Amino acid sequence: MSTKRDYYEVLGVDKNADEQTIKKAYRKLAMKYHPDRNPDNKEAEEKFKEVNEAYEVLSDATKRQNYDQFGHEGVNGQGGFGGFGGQGFGGGGFEDMFGDIFGDIFGGGFGGGSRPRRRGPERGDDIKQTVNISFEEAAFGKKASIKVNRSEECNECHGSGAKPGTSKKTCPTCNGQGEVRTVQRTPFGNIASSRTCSTCGGEGEVLETPCTKCSGKGSVRKVKTIEVDIPAGIDDGQMIKLSGQGEVGSKGGPRGDLYIVVNVKPHSLFTRDGFDIYFEMPITFSQAALGDEIEVPTLDGKVKYTIPEGTQTGTVFRLREKGIPKLRGNSRGDQYVKVIVDTPKKLNEKQKELLRQFAAECGEEVHEKKSSFGKKIENLFKKK
Ligand SMILES: [Zn+2]
Ligand SMILES: [Zn+2]
Repeated sequence: MSTKRDYYEVLGVDKNADEQTIKKAYRKLAMKYHPDRNPDNKEAEEKFKEVNEAYEVLSDATKRQNYDQFGHEGVNGQGGFGGFGGQGFGGGGFEDMFGDIFGDIFGGGFGGGSRPRRRGPERGDDIKQTVNISFEEAAFGKKASIKVNRSEECNECHGSGAKPGTSKKTCPTCNGQGEVRTVQRTPFGNIASSRTCSTCGGEGEVLETPCTKCSGKGSVRKVKTIEVDIPAGIDDGQMIKLSGQGEVGSKGGPRGDLYIVVNVKPHSLFTRDGFDIYFEMPITFSQAALGDEIEVPTLDGKVKYTIPEGTQTGTVFRLREKGIPKLRGNSRGDQYVKVIVDTPKKLNEKQKELLRQFAAECGEEVHEKKSSFGKKIENLFKKK
């Protein structure tokens, strides 16, 4: 006779599942199939009933025991399901049963005991805005003017949204409750649910005549220029927070915050790591071999530095405190200079002759360009 699914199967739990597991499984399914989340969905409605029925039995120790012993007949025999308005499932009972379960999920909006959900003052949203600055500006700081498109309180209605001289009236749809309650009749009793009133958006009041300037929104969008002190030492990707400079709040709520994201353009000579600067300095072979006083570019202009005789390519020296000023404190990072020896190219005959003499002096035997690299490879194969 019964085509009902097994209650354990309905909840997707084991026959030995404990109370907590059953409750958890039920909660998950009930939320999934809840009519509030599935408006006008017959299948979900059926599932919701099925899930509730299974939970009603499995959450009650006596009923569960009967069900385990006698199956669906066992619980029906108990009179637990009296059909419409039957014992245990009459309106009130149903709500009581779900009170604790839905309380935290639907914020008390489910079943009885609902309060008008009028919205109070709300804080405005935060705004994120990017500013592009140069490497030097990041190093030494900058006063920047930033244009921000944000909402400002409407100066016509001072944020109320009502046309001056008019006021607000009680919402006719929800009678000021802010929400609309619906009761759905099911074979297991009435399921009450409520949703935010769409006429007033939950406020309980509507405008008699909306402000013409802001169309009743209470705020208007404006481009505002904001002065920002970008501190010395800031790095690419870092943010500056300007409290209370974001979107305007509603109903007198505070403004959100404004976050300025700093975008530092790369430098043509320097790279940065934290507060240190890295730079590659080309020098000639003669400078490297003989030593020289060279001029190194830094953020503060050129700085003289003496490279010693016999400096190898790749040698790194440090210029103390020539890096980026630290955000906190008075010190600065350092500049690291890596020396790259430039091998001379396109020498004239006289220069070549001098180098040959130099090589001979060093006891070197230099085989100059007798063949190109390609020819050398060719010769290698010919020998075979
Ligand atoms: Zn206005
Ligand atoms: Zn309303």
